[in-house]
Amino acid sequence: MKVLLIGAGGREHALAWKLAQSPRLTHLFCAPGNPGIAEVATCVALHVDDHAAVSAFCAEQRIDLIVIGPEAPLVAGLSDVLREAGLAVFGPSQAAAALEGSKGFTKDLCARFDIPTGAYRRFRAAEPARHYIREQGAPIVIKADGLAAGKGVTVAMTLEDALAAVDDCFSGTFGAAGAEVVVEAFLDGEEASFFCLCDGKTALPLTSAQDHKRVGDGDTGPNTGGMGAYSPAPVMSEAMTQATMERIILPTIRGMAEQGTPFTGVLFAGLMITDKGPELIEYNVRFGDPETQVLMMRMESDLLPLLHAAATGTLEGMNAEWRPEPALTVVMASKGYPGSFTRDTPIDRLAPETAQTKIFHAGTALKNGQLVATGGRVLNVTATGTSVREARETAYAVVDQIGWDNGFCRRDIGWRAIEREEA
Ligand code: ATP
Repeated sequence: MKVLLIGAGGREHALAWKLAQSPRLTHLFCAPGNPGIAEVATCVALHVDDHAAVSAFCAEQRIDLIVIGPEAPLVAGLSDVLREAGLAVFGPSQAAAALEGSKGFTKDLCARFDIPTGAYRRFRAAEPARHYIREQGAPIVIKADGLAAGKGVTVAMTLEDALAAVDDCFSGTFGAAGAEVVVEAFLDGEEASFFCLCDGKTALPLTSAQDHKRVGDGDTGPNTGGMGAYSPAPVMSEAMTQATMERIILPTIRGMAEQGTPFTGVLFAGLMITDKGPELIEYNVRFGDPETQVLMMRMESDLLPLLHAAATGTLEGMNAEWRPEPALTVVMASKGYPGSFTRDTPIDRLAPETAQTKIFHAGTALKNGQLVATGGRVLNVTATGTSVREARETAYAVVDQIGWDNGFCRRDIGWRAIEREEA
């Protein structure tokens, strides 16, 4: 099978690495890719927002499956254009990508199909939102409706913060994403991420993960795209997984089909595990980054037939097998991230990899033969172990061998899981 993977981050490197192990793969292309991906795929300089060019490339190369990594091309409707051209695409339609692109859309779906989530109201003007917030009291959560790179959400512990967040949204800080605001009840519990493959009618559960969003040790400092992750999430017991499938995932898949927007691709549920069981915080319509890096390290099954089955409506009866050992990834970022940082700093030495360790590339490039850091999040040092502690020790031993003066990472990835492991 000939595959085109779209994307350039650590998530795509992990997917490429796993796809490249498939006996069914004949050739892997990646657009645009990165130096790590180039070790296992042919990187092509396609402009992903030029849908016609991507479609023409697929026709010319007789691509059997297109796997779309990031959310932006999905929300922009790339999969619709490719599907109309008769191609098999792993990724939702533009209409189904509203599960990530519009928080109001997802909340309405939850209300309609009785999916557990925080009580909410949608607002297009500040005054009624303020009135509702005063009625409800704090803590309360204020969200810009659209994509705001994780910055459009305020978990307000006081009324003042909540009212300020409403003003902030409607003042245009988030552009069109803030034209509508969702105000929702604060959910108390432990967060976990859960992933499923979907083919429009069926959902195949994958596994769980937890990530660390804050830049600093002890989960302090500003939010980032994610500074590390591990899988599985200890809080996702067998019973919790079953409850998530029955109460959240399956009604979503049925509801999306019933609404005429069937969901194909990976459904990434952000959950709050509360006293009452799992509640939905948000959906993402693509694999998580850096969660995918740990998922792929643990996946025993061949990824390619699973993605192909999801793309072609033939998931029913398929299974995904996982290694029981946990995996953990440490994100190495450019000093200054998530604020401003220097680009093109040299990475002089990458540690050797073993069966238990893998360094996935995110924001790297090769310039005149020198590997350089071009982004905020740059390398994902990933390891497996017999415990989360062991996986973490192995990952940090690799981090410490990497020669990159301008890089930094958190030193406490997995702390919550380790506390639980050792309790
Ligand atoms: P990201 O891209 O960072 O996942 P997002 O902009 O898509 O964020 P959400 O995931 O909906 O937004 O919210 C971001 C974070 O805010 C969540 O991970 C969670 O910690 C917190 N949060 C969101 N909704 C609630 C809620 N109802 N109760 C408590 N915390 C919440």
